[in-house]
Amino acid sequence: MKKILTIEYDKKFTSSVLKKCFENSPEKIIEEIKNAYLLGRGGAAFPTGIKWEFVRNQKDDKYIVCNAEEGELYTFKDKFLLNNFAYKVIDGMIIASIVVDSHLGFIYVNEKYKKEIEILKNVVRKYKKNKFLGKNILSTNHNFEIEVIESNGRYITGEETSLLNVIEGKRPVPRLKPPYPPQKGLFGKPTLINNVETFSFIPYIIFYGNEWFRNFGIEKNYGTKLICLTVDNKRIGVFEVELGKIKIYEIIENYAKLKIKNVKSILPSASSALLFPENFNISYDFGSLKINKTSLGTGGISVFTKKFFVFKEILNILKFFVNESCGYCVPCRIGLKRVYEKLCELENLKKEKLKKELNIIKELSLVIKETSRCALGQSALNSLLSYIERIEYGEYRNLY
Ligand code: SF4
Repeated sequence: MKKILTIEYDKKFTSSVLKKCFENSPEKIIEEIKNAYLLGRGGAAFPTGIKWEFVRNQKDDKYIVCNAEEGELYTFKDKFLLNNFAYKVIDGMIIASIVVDSHLGFIYVNEKYKKEIEILKNVVRKYKKNKFLGKNILSTNHNFEIEVIESNGRYITGEETSLLNVIEGKRPVPRLKPPYPPQKGLFGKPTLINNVETFSFIPYIIFYGNEWFRNFGIEKNYGTKLICLTVDNKRIGVFEVELGKIKIYEIIENYAKLKIKNVKSILPSASSALLFPENFNISYDFGSLKINKTSLGTGGISVFTKKFFVFKEILNILKFFVNESCGYCVPCRIGLKRVYEKLCELENLKKEKLKKELNIIKELSLVIKETSRCALGQSALNSLLSYIERIEYGEYRNLY
């Protein structure tokens, strides 16, 4: 399998790629990213080039923010990238600053990532010495500083507008959108926010061009993706795969080292719907997972073997979201807790009673999904809803 992010690049690469940015117009660089069709790797899969173009066109001071909160269950690929290739993320941010014309950027890092925070600070110091950061970068008129900020350790601050509130010293509550951060973000100014993995692809696309990038992956799902694998709640590792060039069953066999007949289901990410063996033949890419009523999310894949009681994990996931709810809106604050309590009462119920209770839980979950203010409340129950669908399919014989 071809790789991009998990291979070192020559230290001279940074100065070469930055020089290339200064030699070309911002419009040309944005065109390159748009033609690469790089989808954001933080969960929302928004086209990166379009976002950059929008921020570039704003007539105001602008900020760059790298979201390295990575608070979601089963996800640890940003930690891996920062640990091994922090300079790629910073290169991506510097390129963004040249393109959208920004002079200040922030990396918002999970407070538990102490080692990675030190690595980032060291790279920033070294880059300042080498004139890649600070005043007059590479003897041009461009100035750009990066501040490394420790998160407050809450999953909800990984939500981009909540993150902005924290940097501004406010309560970690998601803002209503629109306006979106590229219109009105940090301190009311246009702000470009991308995830660690997204920024890391940028130097490659600029240096080698969009056609090179499109050699990886499949149409409209170009490039590679870092996946974090967990089996029955035990971390296996981080792997780089080409989007659309690998099937779900191959991930299970080649990376989780499991036989398909021993696997009950997989969860493509904590906010996604479960996939079952009849779907293991689908490709791993944004489009295929969406068609199959789930989502790729951040790439934190959890595999459940036949020995594992999936219901317990569904409870764990829900408990996580209950604890992480910011409490701002009622459906999420009260509703998630109520669903959790009702689920805890299910274990000893027999068929008819189980069916009745699951129908109530399903109805309540759909209302929460529809009426919650942000993505946390809207997606917290995706795994549960797919689990209930499976129980319905099995005619309510038992929880599994
Ligand atoms: S959905 Fe949940 S996390 Fe989002 S604003 Fe409402 S209470 Fe807060």
